[in-house]
Amino acid sequence: MDALVKKYAEPGLWLEKVPFPEVKEGEVLVKMRKTAICGTDVHIYNWDKWSQDTIPVPMTIGHEFVGEVVEVGEGVKDIKVGDIVSGEGHIVCGKCRNCLAGRRHLCKDTEGIGVNRTGIFAEYASIPVTNIWLCDPTIPEDVLSIFDPLGNAVHTALSFDLLGEDVLITGAGPIGIMAAAIAKQAGARYIVVTDVNDYRLELAKKMGATRVVNVAKQTIRSVMDELGMKEGFDVGLEMSGNAQAFNDMIDAMFHGGKIALLGIQGPETTVDWNKIVFNGLFLKGIYGREMFETWYKMTAMLQSGLDIAPVITHNFHYTEFEKGFEIMKSGQSGKVILNWK
Ligand code: NAD
Ligand code: ZN
Repeated sequence: MDALVKKYAEPGLWLEKVPFPEVKEGEVLVKMRKTAICGTDVHIYNWDKWSQDTIPVPMTIGHEFVGEVVEVGEGVKDIKVGDIVSGEGHIVCGKCRNCLAGRRHLCKDTEGIGVNRTGIFAEYASIPVTNIWLCDPTIPEDVLSIFDPLGNAVHTALSFDLLGEDVLITGAGPIGIMAAAIAKQAGARYIVVTDVNDYRLELAKKMGATRVVNVAKQTIRSVMDELGMKEGFDVGLEMSGNAQAFNDMIDAMFHGGKIALLGIQGPETTVDWNKIVFNGLFLKGIYGREMFETWYKMTAMLQSGLDIAPVITHNFHYTEFEKGFEIMKSGQSGKVILNWK
């Protein structure tokens, strides 16, 4: 079968023939319909330092998907052939204190599909049933294929009460853009989204941002003044991984405000800690999605009117994956989908 493989320890990705997966006990075989390219996949494509330290070669990559179950392994009872499924890319140990307490997103031994073990950019993949999410088939497949990053956005945005609050989102990547739509649905008053990329800020507007700020041209403070915001944002969602963006956020917060950090900062990031101390800010790190409360919430939000369609900007057949990665690298895209039909 066909798969997109990190074949060599160098930049690039290769369309290869790989062996058909064996369906082990407790696994389900999924025939892929649509997969989506994540920023992580672009890191692996580019073969940056993190990828060199993390990714075994050769390996099929990819972790965002929707597909149809075509076979179930021994012991699988609740998922059946024909079901439309997506799945959690984090495989957890099931034995540590957090796993036993039902806080599986905090497992100390998490492994990533398409990162530490075989991924799903393939015609078929066999996945532990404990990671499978049974989809509502009335939700469009393009949307189902991005449940993983939508889940990052939902997990981060719903960390704090948003009803009537003013929300600052730094970073209008696909996840920041989706967070704007979620904040809107959750009843936020003002949703201000920052980036340095106008294409992406336009998408954020379509997804419900009250105002967008290109911080290369305008300050967050000037937009706060326009909106009549005197004391700062109640909630901050850091979704850029950029040090300047994080520091801008700290400066724009209401005293006692709450910040959820999803963006992955580099080692060079520095923060004026006394602003956190004296302004009484709360910081919460976010990893992955809550299993499976986040999946439940995103399904329910979509069923009750959340519309994230504008974030999906490109669709390619998997054989044209190079085009998909190029457009992701250009920054002139939201989510890019690869079609396996
Ligand atoms: P992305 O890289 O597509 O988006 C980041 C955006 O930040 C870009 O549009 C970029 O132009 C913008 N940006 C750069 N400098 C900025 C500045 N000074 N101010 C405001 N914005 C600025 O990323 P994504 O896929 O949307 O993911 C968002 C972040 O979350 C990334 O850092 C990613 O690595 C991280 N992430 C974390 C988890 C987790 O589990 N913690 C999971 C997925 C992604
Ligand atoms: Zn665990």
